[in-house]
Amino acid sequence: MDMPQATSNGEAEQKPSALLRTSHSALSDFLSCPEKFRQSRILKRKETPAWWSAGGTAVHSVTEEFDRWYLTAPSPEAVEGFSWEGSFKGFFDRQVEETQEKTGVATSEWRAAGASNARRVTEDEAFWRANGPQYAKNWALWRAQNPQWSIWGTPSREPAIELEFNLEDFGGAGLRAYVDRVMVNEAGEVAVIDLKAGSSAPDLLDQLLIYAGCMEIEYGVRPTLGAFFNCRKGDKVYLERLDVEHVTDTMERVSTFITQADAGEYLARPGEQCAFRCGYAAHCSSAQRLTSFWRKKAGLE
Ligand code: SF4
Repeated sequence: MDMPQATSNGEAEQKPSALLRTSHSALSDFLSCPEKFRQSRILKRKETPAWWSAGGTAVHSVTEEFDRWYLTAPSPEAVEGFSWEGSFKGFFDRQVEETQEKTGVATSEWRAAGASNARRVTEDEAFWRANGPQYAKNWALWRAQNPQWSIWGTPSREPAIELEFNLEDFGGAGLRAYVDRVMVNEAGEVAVIDLKAGSSAPDLLDQLLIYAGCMEIEYGVRPTLGAFFNCRKGDKVYLERLDVEHVTDTMERVSTFITQADAGEYLARPGEQCAFRCGYAAHCSSAQRLTSFWRKKAGLE
C-alpha cells in the first residue's frame, strides 16, 4: 500500500484520487479540464469569485426551501413572512459574505457574465438581486404546473432534495455529490434533475450521468431520464434519455482520469470554458496560448 509522502510543511501529501473524494465539483473540474483540477486542488490557487456562483447558489437554496414546504403545504406564500425577494436576499447576502471571507477577493473584482460583451447585460450584483427571486420562483411555477412529477423518496423515506451521496468507489475514487432533485413521474420513470440558473447552457451530460451512476450504486435504481431545468426560462425542462452504456462509459472515463492524475498527468483543455467557467485563467499557461479573441473574453488582455 502506498504511504502518503510528507510535504515541506509537514503535511501528508494526498494522491489526486484521494482528493477527488472531497466533492462532486472536484470531479467536475477534473472531467472538464484536469489542469483546472490541478490549479484548484493540488496547487490550491484562489479562484476569482463569480457573481453567477453566488446568485446560482442562492437560487438553489430558495428552491430547496420551497420544495421542502411543497411536500406538505400548497404554497410558500401561505407561510407567514415569506417573500421570494426576502428569501433570495437572505441566501444571496450570506453567500457573498462567505465567499469574500473565504477568498479575500473584494466584490469589485468578481467575474460577471456578459462583462466583456457590450451587446449583453452585465450580470453583476445588481442583476442577480433583480432577477434571482424570479429564477427561483420559476421552479415553483413549473412544479405547480407539472403535478405528474413528484419528489422521489429513498428507502428510508428521505425526500430526494439536494440528495447527498458519499460513495467509497465511483470508477475507482471516492465521490461526494449532491443531486438537486430526483423525481419520479406517474409512469414510474425516475429522473435526476439539475437546476441551472446561469446564462450558459450545459454542453455535457456528464453531470447527469454521474448522478445516475450514484443512484445505481447507492440504491440500485438507475434513472432513465436526466434533465437540466432552466431557471431563467422556467417553461421547459429538457429531458434526456440516459443510456445505460453512457453511464458505464462515464465511470470508465473517471477511472482513466484518476490513473492519469495519480501519475501526475494533467492535460489542459483550453477553449471556450477558459473564458466563461474557469477562475484560474490568470494562473494557467495553457490559457496564455489562447487566441486573442478568447483571451479578451477571459479578461487576460
Ligand atoms: S484556463 Fe482553461 S486550460 Fe487553464 S485550467 Fe482553466 S479551463 Fe483549463
